[in-house]
Amino acid sequence: ASRSPDSKNNTIIKIKTAGKEISIGDGNCTIIAGPCSVESQEQYLEIALILKEMGVDILRGGAFKPRSSPYSFAGLGTEGLKILAEARELTGLPVVSEVMDPRDLDQVAAHCDLIQIGSRNMQNFSLLKEAGRVDKPVLLKRGLAATIEEWLLACEYIMDAGNEKVILCERGIRTFEPLTRNTVDIGAVALVKELSHLPVIVDPSHATGRRSLVAPVARAAMAAGADGLMIEVHQHPEEALSDGEQSLTPEQFAALTERIRAMV
Ligand code: PEP
Ligand code: MN
Repeated sequence: ASRSPDSKNNTIIKIKTAGKEISIGDGNCTIIAGPCSVESQEQYLEIALILKEMGVDILRGGAFKPRSSPYSFAGLGTEGLKILAEARELTGLPVVSEVMDPRDLDQVAAHCDLIQIGSRNMQNFSLLKEAGRVDKPVLLKRGLAATIEEWLLACEYIMDAGNEKVILCERGIRTFEPLTRNTVDIGAVALVKELSHLPVIVDPSHATGRRSLVAPVARAAMAAGADGLMIEVHQHPEEALSDGEQSLTPEQFAALTERIRAMV
């Protein structure tokens, strides 16, 4: 994952679907957006079409959800993946979803264009090694309490196993401060861009846990050199089955993307 000394070359990761080819790490801002979870076919296809109209590059949606409580909604599983594939067909946009268990990797890879490994699994070494054998780019989120070095070494597990297409995602780390849910490590974004040739994006939604903080942190991320953003958007955040408090409405999201596009 390291940049060779004096090299300014960055790895650009390309994702091609029937409707679109996108390049992550090419100096633009790649915008990944969607609800925390795929909740139903009706909910997901509706928000997917709204987001396509707004110029989103990649759609997100969790089918296998890591939840702190075993009693919380944990996603639709395989049915959720099928809905994501339908949204991809309908919009022509690539889709990303999380895999938590190596046994689900093949089905996630079959339905999605980008495979997400979440914070809680950043050091699940068996999952990392399996993801290294898949021919799809991987979005590796920073662990809840991972140092930058541990994060880059986790990335190297995937690369060493044969998959060099890794995108890093800063999503905040645990500190003593609960009011901002996680503490966004903006310095890490600038540093990882220095240390590594790989694209780095920021998830201001999980990083802050609060709708009002998503836009300012998104702008800070771009100012620090991020290659893109992952943002949770829901048509009715107050009814969302997960992470409603940090989800933007489509209107709020449109206002944010307008300001972000003006920055790059
Ligand atoms: C997510 O993006 O759906 C998610 C659960 O994020 P994190 O792994 O960063 O908590
Ligand atoms: Mn979420």
